[in-house]
Amino acid sequence: MKASNDMVVTMHYTLTDDSGTVLDSSAGHTPMNYLHGHGNIVPGLEKALEGAVAGFKSKVTVPAAEGYGEIDPEAVFEAPREHFPDDMELAPGVLVSSGGAHGSTPLTVVEITDSVVVLDGNHPLAGKILHFEVEIVEVRAATREEMTHGHAHSGDGHHH
Ligand code: ZN
Repeated sequence: MKASNDMVVTMHYTLTDDSGTVLDSSAGHTPMNYLHGHGNIVPGLEKALEGAVAGFKSKVTVPAAEGYGEIDPEAVFEAPREHFPDDMELAPGVLVSSGGAHGSTPLTVVEITDSVVVLDGNHPLAGKILHFEVEIVEVRAATREEMTHGHAHSGDGHHH
């Protein structure tokens, strides 16, 4: 079977940045799976895998625009310090959740002063060129439940 819309693709992958630093990898773990055509992986990688079959191996370079997006300077903003609970651990690099009406967006703490917390709503990988090394393990048709949910379920049960 070929990777195309509504197929579940199982693959091993290693993601490195421009300097060759490994950012994420499935090596030594269960391969990851995703539902093709539903925007569950970055657009540039999904496009590169279109039509791929089990055994397909490739190196795919994805520009930021087709990865996690360009860095948006307007996504960096200040929030009053008093909006955060006193017992909340705040430090640069810590991820906090906005928990707003539009669902929770992860925000990275940039800086903390006595009065404000500077937050960055950009994805930590925004602005980065992504280098993927992928190997397709399996391609199968999605189940009805996966189609309804819009994402793949792993073989070891349903957890989300
Ligand atoms: Zn589900």
